[in-house]
Amino acid sequence: MMNIILLGPPGAGKGTQAARLQANRGMIQLSTGDMLREAVAAGTPVGLKAKEVMARGELVSDAIVSALIGERLDASADKGAIFDGFPRTKHQAAALEILLAERGRRLDYVIELAVDEDELVKRITGRFTCAACGAGYHDAFRPTKTPGVCDNCGSTEFKRRPDDNEQTVRTRMAEYRAKTQPILPYYEAKGLVRRVDGMQSVDDVAAQIDAILDGQTL
Ligand SMILES: [Zn+2]
Repeated sequence: MMNIILLGPPGAGKGTQAARLQANRGMIQLSTGDMLREAVAAGTPVGLKAKEVMARGELVSDAIVSALIGERLDASADKGAIFDGFPRTKHQAAALEILLAERGRRLDYVIELAVDEDELVKRITGRFTCAACGAGYHDAFRPTKTPGVCDNCGSTEFKRRPDDNEQTVRTRMAEYRAKTQPILPYYEAKGLVRRVDGMQSVDDVAAQIDAILDGQTL
């Protein structure tokens, strides 16, 4: 059983890799935001407590989030866990250690999908889709065969997502760094951090994560 923290900025393919680990290895993804919404909706004991706090407009405490994670681990017959969005502080990291230890588990790795920011900007800002059939293209990596004409349906109208601009990408990267800054050095000191180049193909990233989880030296 492997318990990992998966880190990566938006656009690094974290969601894709987490979905793969769940499907192939029977791991569960414990995404704090989703878990809170689910627990509130399901009316679990911790969910009810969280609902009360949120109704007062307050932030959900570390203790509630820890209890929520504990509740989920106890209810699940998983073969490992992927933590996403928690911990974000050293205090939360220590809380996670305790709640894992209480269940005879431990954190095995912190896997970071590393990206080159300029390359990520280039990838994301070049994306566009056909307005008629939704076919996906990219200015640099997958242009239409005839400029301005969809390969698939012949339409000449295309769409770009307003979020796919340089400023948004750089702001998200800065937010990501601010979130991971408090915990990466903590786990680095423990020798748990492994970096995978998130700019590779989905399959190559997956193969490297597998190698880490299977204990093969890279
Ligand atoms: Zn089209």
